[in-house]
Amino acid sequence: MEIRIKGVSKYYYAEGKTIKALDDVNLVIPANHIFTLLGPSGCGKTTLLRCIVGLEMPDTGEISIGGDVVWSKAKNISVPPEKRGLGMVFQTYAIWPHMNVFDNVAYPLQVRNVPRDVIRQRVEKTLHFVQLEGFEKRPATKLSGGQQQRVALARALVAEPKVILFDEPLSNLDAKLREETRKELRAFLGKLQITAVYVTHDRVEALALSDSIAVMRAGKIIEVGTPKKIYFDADHRFVADFIGRANLVKATVRAEEGGFTIVDSGLGAITCQHRDVAIGSEATLCIRPEFIRIVRGEAAAASNLVNGRIETLVFVGEAYEAEIRVGDELLLAKIDPEAQLNEGDAVSFTLDPAHCLLVAI
Ligand code: ATP
Repeated sequence: MEIRIKGVSKYYYAEGKTIKALDDVNLVIPANHIFTLLGPSGCGKTTLLRCIVGLEMPDTGEISIGGDVVWSKAKNISVPPEKRGLGMVFQTYAIWPHMNVFDNVAYPLQVRNVPRDVIRQRVEKTLHFVQLEGFEKRPATKLSGGQQQRVALARALVAEPKVILFDEPLSNLDAKLREETRKELRAFLGKLQITAVYVTHDRVEALALSDSIAVMRAGKIIEVGTPKKIYFDADHRFVADFIGRANLVKATVRAEEGGFTIVDSGLGAITCQHRDVAIGSEATLCIRPEFIRIVRGEAAAASNLVNGRIETLVFVGEAYEAEIRVGDELLLAKIDPEAQLNEGDAVSFTLDPAHCLLVAI
């Protein structure tokens, strides 16, 4: 089901101050999409999720789910959470420690007075889906963190919602388990015809899981796009910087040439991906560390060739992280661990114009 959010604002009042948690949010979350709300702490992600669920009342605007208005200030509509047909998975799994796995998963059906044989059938099917069959009688507390998370997922899915919402569901897991559970979750959601709204401040999680990402800051949606669009082709400096490590270099637009935009910068004249920007305007050149390519003599004629000196070099396993000094700029580069380089070495590198991105200042 599609979710439409129109002109939604939400204010909190604390210690005599007004906090604008959501500031005129407009968003369409397509049906059967894994849609992530990503942004720094306090940007309003959870508030927006809670407004969709119905746990918070916005101060302005309208929210509809699958074409039905569930909240409207102007029309005075407020559908209670339990009537919105949603499933929800929280950060703290919120599974009940005094119940076994079966009862935890069965609970949403029991409170709806679903017949017992239907409950048994649906719980079994859902536990099979999340690969927890055979765990029915196990007390919920005697499970690993990842298994508890799957119980929470099963409980959210058992009533067959059309929309499922996740609020930082993996943040209590350790790094390795988080990665595994993320993959599982992606696979589970891929098999379901369901709209998933996922809140996280973890950019890797957002990139790995989502069909689309909305990046938020200070109660506003800054940019929406596919993970690749957001990572490789963001329009805003804040988004480019938040989604991954980036070198941001001040630049002035000098010319349009052969489908590229040329800028002057502290790295010299750099050919970039085309952007519709006025000649002479200021912009920020964004270069990801993995797109800085060290070259040896034979590639000296390449375009976007820059000379610098390695200031620091740190081995991080799959690569060296080097800081390369070019005039006043210090660039972070990820370079081949086999490279025979040392701190203090003069180096030349190229920047592929396709990966030189101009973002708004
Ligand atoms: P995090 O990633 O830290 O969970 P978030 O992006 O989910 O953050 P929200 O929890 O939506 O952010 O909070 C948005 C803003 O509203 C913050 O400034 C927060 O302090 C404030 N806020 C949230 N809940 C309340 C409340 N009940 N009373 C007062 N202010 C609140």
